[in-house]
Amino acid sequence: MSDVIFEARNLTKKYKNQYALDDVSITLKKDRIYGFIGENGAGKSTLMKILAGLIFPTSGDMTFMGETDPAAIEKKRKSVGTMIEGPYIYPGYSVRQNVELQRLLVGNPDESATDRMIELVGLSDSRKKKAKKLSMGMKQRLGIAMAMVGNPRFLILDEPINGLDPKNIVTLRCMLKKINQDNDCTIFVSSHILSELYLLATDFIFIHKGKIIESVTHEQLEEKCSQYVFVRNNYIPETVTILEKYFPDINYKVETDDAIKIYGKPEIMTELSGYMMQAGITVSELSAKEMSLEEYFIGITGAERK
Ligand code: ADP
Repeated sequence: MSDVIFEARNLTKKYKNQYALDDVSITLKKDRIYGFIGENGAGKSTLMKILAGLIFPTSGDMTFMGETDPAAIEKKRKSVGTMIEGPYIYPGYSVRQNVELQRLLVGNPDESATDRMIELVGLSDSRKKKAKKLSMGMKQRLGIAMAMVGNPRFLILDEPINGLDPKNIVTLRCMLKKINQDNDCTIFVSSHILSELYLLATDFIFIHKGKIIESVTHEQLEEKCSQYVFVRNNYIPETVTILEKYFPDINYKVETDDAIKIYGKPEIMTELSGYMMQAGITVSELSAKEMSLEEYFIGITGAERK
């Protein structure tokens, strides 16, 4: 059996003159946890809504759990749990009623699932509380319980960490890892807290201005993130000219008026040093350093380069 749960080929979503998704092709494999990373407006919610069947692409093809026909895909969506742009909860109903209603809606015959999910998200003490009286973090946890009560094989969570305090963030991380391992559930999760995603995800997909700019496994990212080249000198415009001329494919960022970071290619250090010497540039520092996921993201999107 194929280990692919979802595949998209050349998906676009156009709103008037703007592409929210622009020729997106991705493959999601079973039992992985995908961290979906992009700035505000990059197209994350749009792709998640398409995956969840809430909106439809303007063009492109999808295969979901082996099905390509839209009606067959829709049937398979019973095994998808979602929380996109906040939980859909009934404010006048209690925590338990909300989860129970969702269990019935998704047709999970296992009655014990309702209380198990409430327990899992740490809301047992508040199960009789009306949803409208919950704090933001508690509402978020209720949404996650509702997304999971159908025993999903595929869980789509848009910014689930929003509104959670540090303790709840750790609880959620452990919970998602457990669901992934125990229930063979593929998870597709977006968050702007990249350090948290780094601790959770097995794979990372970077989206920028509607385009997927990189898909990497945790191991690959660790390798890529591990180093960047740091250059300090008083000839930044000249150094930039060298970079553009000899290394046109690299990403770099001018940090200050005497420092540049060059992402992902520590092997260029010797060659770069040679070009700078040739140009008569005195270098006060040239070294390989460690990089955070945030820095890597800025590096590949070029977000702060302009
Ligand atoms: P993200 O979730 O990464 O913040 P979105 O997927 O919500 O980004 O949005 C991607 C782009 O599509 C944005 O420029 C947004 O303004 C636009 N967009 C999203 N939904 C609509 C809509 N219903 N009508 C028009 N434009 C939209």
